[in-house]
Amino acid sequence: MKAFDYTRAGVLSDAVGSPAMLIAGGTNLLDLMKLEVATPDALLDINPIGLRDIAPEGAGLRIGALVSNADCAAHPRVRADWPLLSRAILAGASPQLRNKASMGGNLCQRTRCGYFMDGHSPCNKREPGSGCAAQGGVNRNHAILGASDACIATYPGDMAVALAALRATVETEGPDGAREIAMRDFHRVPGDDPSRDNVLKPGEVITAIRLPAPVAGRQLYRKVRDRASYAFALVSVAAAIRVSGGQIEAAQLAFGSIAHKPWTDERIEKMLIAQAPSPALFDRAADLLLEEARGQGHNDFKILLARRTLAAVLAEATQDATGE
Ligand code: SF4
Repeated sequence: MKAFDYTRAGVLSDAVGSPAMLIAGGTNLLDLMKLEVATPDALLDINPIGLRDIAPEGAGLRIGALVSNADCAAHPRVRADWPLLSRAILAGASPQLRNKASMGGNLCQRTRCGYFMDGHSPCNKREPGSGCAAQGGVNRNHAILGASDACIATYPGDMAVALAALRATVETEGPDGAREIAMRDFHRVPGDDPSRDNVLKPGEVITAIRLPAPVAGRQLYRKVRDRASYAFALVSVAAAIRVSGGQIEAAQLAFGSIAHKPWTDERIEKMLIAQAPSPALFDRAADLLLEEARGQGHNDFKILLARRTLAAVLAEATQDATGE
């Protein structure tokens, strides 16, 4: 590991605008530093600055950026009103990692593309302009939607997928002041600059995640992966669905591990409204989702897997729910 300076922030203003790399739980960053994929000259530890409250905000909830993933998943309000978030967090990583990982840090985790992680292969994300070894290489875990000629990596997390479905927002404090970013807009598609995973500006710090009022109805998170625990998703689907009088009244959906960001498509959400649940309807939803899907070779199976996972989640979310 390359040598670096280490300091601790006392208050939030120490971190805002700092040129140092921020560290909270470090569950991803320390791995990247050991592999010398990340080589910061200076680390600023933001653990002392607080941001550990979970507090009601109207009908919603404000979750401090340094709340641990474990504490968020176990919080009684989260479990009762946003079970999708709790389930998605518990589907990720291991208990030890969830104890250490912070909410803000989780959003900033980087892709697990093997060529990015190996530190040597051509990789436009790690070394802009060097190429993309995953194209024509081993790309079983890579994107089927929203990829570019520069990068076909996926965003690997679970929590952000649930937050995108729930229409959460990310609160930040930067050198130019505070702002609130829709979760659905926080991560980027790679375009011609895959080095940037999200829309955070230099010196900007995530301070909280805000959940809007919960969606009455059913909330599901289904994660399909190679083994039952401690594995990244091949495909995941987050859904908050309400059925009333035999018709779908509310539908919020997001998809994980199929794109460079938690993938959302409002056309599907709109198309499902006021429709009676049926296999034919779920098929049409999948047609829309996968209209522009493109496999890279090893990951071609993800197109069918995404179709089947969406259909299964919609069937489960609407089953016997005609009067909710
Ligand atoms: Fe790098 Fe993206 Fe290509 Fe992976 S897919 S090698 S992260 S440029």
